[in-house]
Amino acid sequence: MSETMTAAAPDLFAKFDEIIQIRENLLASGVEDPFSLVMEKVLSPTRAICNGRDTILLGTYNYMGMTFDPDVIAAGKDALDQFGSGTTGSRVLNGTYQGHREVEDALREFYAMDHAMVFSTGYQANLGIISTIAGKGDYIVLDIDSHASIWDGCAMGKAEVVPFKHNDIEAMEKRLKRIPEGAGILVVLEGVYSMLGDVAPLKEMVAVAKKYGAMVLVDEAHSMGFIGEHGRGVAEDQGVLDQVDFVIGTFSKSVGTVGGFCVSNHPKFEIMRLVCRPYVFTASLPPSVVATAATSVRKLMHAGNKRAHLWENSRRLHGGLTELGFTLGTSEPQSAIVAVIMPDLQRGASMWEALLHEGLYVNLARPPATPANMTLLRCSLCAEHSSEEVETILGMFERAGKAVGII
Ligand code: PMP
Repeated sequence: MSETMTAAAPDLFAKFDEIIQIRENLLASGVEDPFSLVMEKVLSPTRAICNGRDTILLGTYNYMGMTFDPDVIAAGKDALDQFGSGTTGSRVLNGTYQGHREVEDALREFYAMDHAMVFSTGYQANLGIISTIAGKGDYIVLDIDSHASIWDGCAMGKAEVVPFKHNDIEAMEKRLKRIPEGAGILVVLEGVYSMLGDVAPLKEMVAVAKKYGAMVLVDEAHSMGFIGEHGRGVAEDQGVLDQVDFVIGTFSKSVGTVGGFCVSNHPKFEIMRLVCRPYVFTASLPPSVVATAATSVRKLMHAGNKRAHLWENSRRLHGGLTELGFTLGTSEPQSAIVAVIMPDLQRGASMWEALLHEGLYVNLARPPATPANMTLLRCSLCAEHSSEEVETILGMFERAGKAVGII
């Protein structure tokens, strides 16, 4: 028998050795594990008990604080009683209930668009729509800092993938110029980029995309409900929503539950329900989830005061942290995400832990989620944070930052 036939195959986990080592080194330094925190009790959109401590939450995507809205909770309970705990089927078989129709109606109304299609997560919405509309022979031109679900959608569809430098209009145009004539083009952008909290220059980018005949998809996961007069997102805010072909969104952020969606005015959009594999080959959302989502989406149509308070909170936190001497991801507040840049993972983890001991939870974010190899303490504000809470948070940052030697 030859040696190659008897040699043991490599351990398929060998590729993870580097990340295993980084994690072990971090935990060996004695810090609490920043990636396995448990919310033992959740008291409100902004407070929970974590590791036995009453903690202010500043690292959730609960931008509009809808998770404890009494109408949302009542709708979920009612649907659970009337329709049971799950659909046990795909949307195209037994998994379309009245509630799925109702949440799609609510989305159509929210965006004033013709079509809305709900997926089981936002991840699946990007995966499904991108891979289905841009296939072999087509081109996808996308921002290099795009979310993992966008990259995975590109990989699944087998289109030519052409990334450009983050938020760089000229770089985007250069890529578009080189695409062979006659090829289908999808430009994929995000309203708010979730790591640094910066906004895309959609007005200019959409105009450039249209000049080259491209279709445009904008992921508004972090802006829906908050940015724009009606909370439709950055495309609304910059006056280009009518030129965007597909808006992707999620229920896991401002809407306060789970699920994803795509809205569009494309006249053939409904065919997606039969050809989009991450829609067809998975179970639909439980009735209680779609009921909470529909109620929340409808309430977000009339949430101007909450949006104004969330802007106030975001501006105050951004201004206060800047005054304290922290380095932030953007020079001006652009969204409800305020990213505090850490010098390295070790000090980022120490600062994260110091804040947790103060009673504040933020997200510790590191590569590959972050751009340019950055370690970030990512703060996301909620419309339910009171102005006093924001001042308390600034005090916590000041004490922790001094203790760790970051300011
Ligand atoms: N798009 C973006 C920009 C996101 O940040 C996220 C989640 N963080 C998603 C899509 C996926 O959303 P979901 O949590 O609903 O899967």
